[in-house]
Amino acid sequence: MGANLDLFDRARRVIPGGVNSPVRAFGSVGGTPYFVDRAEGPYLWDAEGRRYIDYVQSYGPGILGHAHPAVLDAVTRAASAGTSYGAPTEAEVVLAEMVVDRIAGLESVRFVSSGTEATMSAIRLARGATGRPGIVKFAGCYHGHADALLAAGGSGVANQGLSGCDGVTDGAVADTIVAPYNVVPTLDDTVAAVIVEPVAANMGLVAPADGFLEGLRTACDEAGALLIFDEVITGFRLARGGAAERFGVTPDLWCFGKVIGGGLPVGAFGGPWDVMEHLAPLGGVYQGGTLSGNPLAMAAGRTTLELLDDGAFDQLTATATRLADGLASAFASAGMASILPRVGSLLGLFFGDRAPTDFDEAKVLADNGVYPKVFHALLDRGVALAPGAYEALFPSLAHDDAVVDETIEIAADAAAAVASAS
Ligand SMILES: *Cc1c(COP(=O)(O)O)cnc(C)c1O
Repeated sequence: MGANLDLFDRARRVIPGGVNSPVRAFGSVGGTPYFVDRAEGPYLWDAEGRRYIDYVQSYGPGILGHAHPAVLDAVTRAASAGTSYGAPTEAEVVLAEMVVDRIAGLESVRFVSSGTEATMSAIRLARGATGRPGIVKFAGCYHGHADALLAAGGSGVANQGLSGCDGVTDGAVADTIVAPYNVVPTLDDTVAAVIVEPVAANMGLVAPADGFLEGLRTACDEAGALLIFDEVITGFRLARGGAAERFGVTPDLWCFGKVIGGGLPVGAFGGPWDVMEHLAPLGGVYQGGTLSGNPLAMAAGRTTLELLDDGAFDQLTATATRLADGLASAFASAGMASILPRVGSLLGLFFGDRAPTDFDEAKVLADNGVYPKVFHALLDRGVALAPGAYEALFPSLAHDDAVVDETIEIAADAAAAVASAS
């Protein structure tokens, strides 16, 4: 028996499904998950010593590639001074200053330990600041696993084929309105906030239609609702100033995660003072955390943001473009119709003829049965995509042209094998 299966069996005896986040169990692609032994740059190695070119990169945090020496050094130095104090540190101030400096319109920021905490807290803050209950979210957008936001979620929720979630009461989602992505909803004066992924990256990749984000800004202004950009994926990835900078639309609140922690547990939410001053201890909206602003996590985040200069975003975009073009022709040469929607360095992969514009269209493509075959053909040949058709690809700064070209060659071989088997 292989080490991966051995570990999976052991894991399933003590951890539900053997995993600590459902998509990792390979349920939607079948087979046995690889257990990671170590990782470096664009590669990871599993418990059986097999090497993979990794396009998961922890679902986004690995924008520098795995185990970047500067991040390791910063984390090691921080750890040697103690790992958590429950008192403020200069490291939190430095990272907050970096966020405020990069995000135009964001004047103050709070650090938490996950993207889920960021969106959950931003929702509470929006409700507290407006005195209204309603939340509008879009089908197929994933905002973490807080009760009120689990309705019609993408990513893991979609991969599990769940339309909702057991254990979430009707009361918890009574004030959540789900609207189709890329259509500006009509808002009334009960709506506290509209929360959106400015580029939807949890239903595969779905770009915002022209005018969608601008339309949300106008609709929120007219209704007196706050606009929340969930930039947990797009933040510090699409540009220095994230999606808000790239699309020229300024929300009232931002949520961050993933890249901002450089691979350690960090989330953040922020906005202008007139909203943020409602947070305790200044205002009446409570939010806190034992490990919030953790010194190791702050060190990893600071080092990661420091390395993301304009040249880095250009390089990431060039890498994603090379990968998208190469994969498209690899699949085409095997007679497979593929669509690789790309926004900056964010890349999606669907099998079909037309890029989806919302969750209903994305579902048809994601569930057509092709992705699992391609996933396994690639994995067998040493390329790891996410084990679910609703996830994006995350090429990093460590994926150089040679690594991308090797990926494309492997994909051509994998595509030919899938095509000849069907
Ligand atoms: C991953 C993700 C979250 C949740 O972040 P966690 O750190 O997994 O809690 C929220 N929003 C978006 C857009 C995400 O991609």
